[in-house]
Amino acid sequence: MQPRPLRTTVIGSYPFPSWLEFASQNLGQFGRDDIAEIQDDAVVCAVNDQLAAGLDVITDGEQTRLDFNLSFYGYIEGIELEAAPPRRFGPPAHDQRGKHPVTGELRAPRGLGVVEEFKRLQRLTAHAKAAAASFPTLKASVPGPYTLSGRLLPNAQYPDRAALTEALLPIVRAELSALVAAGCTEITVDEPSMSCYAHREDPSKFVDVFNRTVEPVVGKCRLSTHLCFGNYKARAVGLRRYAPMFPAFLDFTLDEIHVEMASREFSELSIIAQIAKRRDVAVGIIDVKSYYIETPEDIAARVRQCLEHAPADRLSFAPDCGLSQTARWAAKRKLAAMVAGVELVRKSL
Ligand SMILES: [Zn+2]
Repeated sequence: MQPRPLRTTVIGSYPFPSWLEFASQNLGQFGRDDIAEIQDDAVVCAVNDQLAAGLDVITDGEQTRLDFNLSFYGYIEGIELEAAPPRRFGPPAHDQRGKHPVTGELRAPRGLGVVEEFKRLQRLTAHAKAAAASFPTLKASVPGPYTLSGRLLPNAQYPDRAALTEALLPIVRAELSALVAAGCTEITVDEPSMSCYAHREDPSKFVDVFNRTVEPVVGKCRLSTHLCFGNYKARAVGLRRYAPMFPAFLDFTLDEIHVEMASREFSELSIIAQIAKRRDVAVGIIDVKSYYIETPEDIAARVRQCLEHAPADRLSFAPDCGLSQTARWAAKRKLAAMVAGVELVRKSL
């Protein structure tokens, strides 16, 4: 059951402010302490925007993963910085990002960096939290091992994606345990690659990978997954249908499943009825790919549509995906409209 009926939440990422984008492209000009200060300032910006929207759950907006070294892959030993992308010109999309060659045994003795990110978020919100009667839940997002394996190039030691996934699985498991030990009470394990490729794989194999990944933290925090169809440069990469995943994915051991609905004009919305019988369901109700700004009335109508399929205490609402590929001005307005629209329905319940 949801901690609050019709809860409002987010998927991890939030747009970088312009100055952060500039800084991330010119990191060599900054010292170590400058970068630490930039990271703190960026998280404060993302937190302030989310607090202003009035959300029930907030994240650090993934503001601090500024380059390869500061992202997950920079924490993994046994890989090299990405190879040249297969395509350099033309419309921006995922095939303009190179993959990382694997050169040795995959290890992450320092973890994946998410624990440090979460501790930074705790530190930067502690003062406001202490002063407030109620404060949003702080959520951490960690990519699952299958999604994480998607940017690595197989080699002789790890001949395919399944082998890479198995090698990354204990690394993600350890990060989840460390997050809970650090006081994190809500974690999303992002597995959009599973939703993108379920139509051509055996979905029960994905369930097995997911459940072994989260096993140490089941029952120790609120656990969810995010299943979208891709949003790098605001482009999808998967067959945008949930049918191939269900009912198999209902066997994920977690509290909540997030599905992308707004950009798909709520096609397959009835799937949330199936999910709600066994799990909570977070419905993507904001289209992160469109610059049409949803009004609170649009949102209220969409919430009511969801209530025809699932009860309020099983439902939460979020954007379709992280907002990192949406301009910040639009992201702010979309989140504010989402919270206002959900509130309209909450009042009428
Ligand atoms: Zn997504």
